[in-house]
Amino acid sequence: MKRVLIGGLVHETHTFLAETTDLQAFSRLIWVQGSGLLDRCQGDVSPMGGALEVAQQRGWRVYPSVYGAAMPSGTVADEVLETWWQRFGADLDQALQEGLDGILLILHGAMAFTSFADGEGELLQRVRDRLGQRRLPIAADLDLHANFSPRMARNANIFTGYRQNPHTDARQAGERAAQLLDLAMGGARPQVVCLKPPVIYSPKGTSTAAEPVVTLEAMARQLEADHPELLEVCVLPGFAYADVPCAGVSFCATTTGDPREAEALLQPLARYALAQAQAGNPQDPPIDEVMPRAMALARGPIGLIEPSDNIGGGTPGDGTGILQALISYGATNSAVVINDPEAAAACHTASTGDRLTLPIGGKMDRFHGPTLTLPVELLRRSDGRFALENEKSHLASLVGRQVDMGPTALVRHQGIYILLTTNKTPPMDLGQLRSQGLVPEELYLIGIKAAISHKAAYDPILRESFYVDTPGLGASDLRRFPYRHLPRPMAPLDP
Ligand SMILES: [Zn+2]
Repeated sequence: MKRVLIGGLVHETHTFLAETTDLQAFSRLIWVQGSGLLDRCQGDVSPMGGALEVAQQRGWRVYPSVYGAAMPSGTVADEVLETWWQRFGADLDQALQEGLDGILLILHGAMAFTSFADGEGELLQRVRDRLGQRRLPIAADLDLHANFSPRMARNANIFTGYRQNPHTDARQAGERAAQLLDLAMGGARPQVVCLKPPVIYSPKGTSTAAEPVVTLEAMARQLEADHPELLEVCVLPGFAYADVPCAGVSFCATTTGDPREAEALLQPLARYALAQAQAGNPQDPPIDEVMPRAMALARGPIGLIEPSDNIGGGTPGDGTGILQALISYGATNSAVVINDPEAAAACHTASTGDRLTLPIGGKMDRFHGPTLTLPVELLRRSDGRFALENEKSHLASLVGRQVDMGPTALVRHQGIYILLTTNKTPPMDLGQLRSQGLVPEELYLIGIKAAISHKAAYDPILRESFYVDTPGLGASDLRRFPYRHLPRPMAPLDP
């Protein structure tokens, strides 16, 4: 019976945000240990759920250790890594005494700690160092938004990655990591190589339904088909809002063959990614350019997609750019969700039907538009909990079947609906609106704080959608960000 230690730590870190992500932020989403890990993840659609199912099929003896995940947000406090490592390191020592054949980690790949910019590189190095001379295989799965590093490659034997954005295949990446680990424990000795062309893509450029990633994905699958020694080729377009040396587009391959050959095979992908620097950075038109075009359409629902306040990318979700435009263009029967715990709390001390004057949004920092003080009518209050309509979505893989937006209130200003939430919630499921009394199919304009991750939920109902540029730290124009640690030159930032 193969004995495997399983754990993980998942975070996408937006290093330009002023906030620090502490242990509490993880506790709010996922922080489970030992049998609690199995209780939480067995049978769910997360990569951990997928890995555990393969473990069961293959008859592994699983040592569950510690698994944490938080919503995308600012730089992660060192205490998160140290707390995680204290438990994982102790479980590893224990497992080594009892007998251990492999290690499986569920990761993201774009985690940055206060003291360690290459979060996963540090974590994997600690695991590898603790193994000393033992040649146990380490397998990990990654989000395609991983900012992959050579240090990660050196300290693991297997990486698998998501191939869909929106991430509808997270579970499968976890399954493949477990399957390949099973192979490695049977005697194969895979190694990992990586290539990092000097190019960075904005989140919108990482869609797997558009160029350049469509072609890159096809090239990767063709490589796997032509070269059986390549167990997995990962296309990792990366996460741009990380001012770290390993940010940017990466490719990695897990190979049982000659690592230099595998590296050579990745070269055409790296060349293509670099040549497509412009396609990987599609720009958004200013919202004032878009509004007249949107308002010229008689019927909704019409999506106004706002990457600059892309909650799934870590921004506050309190940007007021779209709300301001809806008001100034008189777009009645439209809706936008604003994360504003203060305004939501004020509504919870009032009664339905009350008229209030509320300062709304733009509070977390100075980058997401001004706070708008508006007279509103309170339509509805709730505890903000809702059941996901799509139980197979990426959101489901993170939070389970229930989402908790915290105390939530629906208010109306000049015919515009504003949903005020306490916990920022990425717009990945229509249950978010429907549970609060809004019928998305009947709205005119819908402000959507996302770049790509909304598409699985919203594309089927939207008659039309427009990307808009508004103030925010998720802007598609990467030249606005004060990078200091990114290797230069980097396309398309430098000539
Ligand atoms: Zn992602």
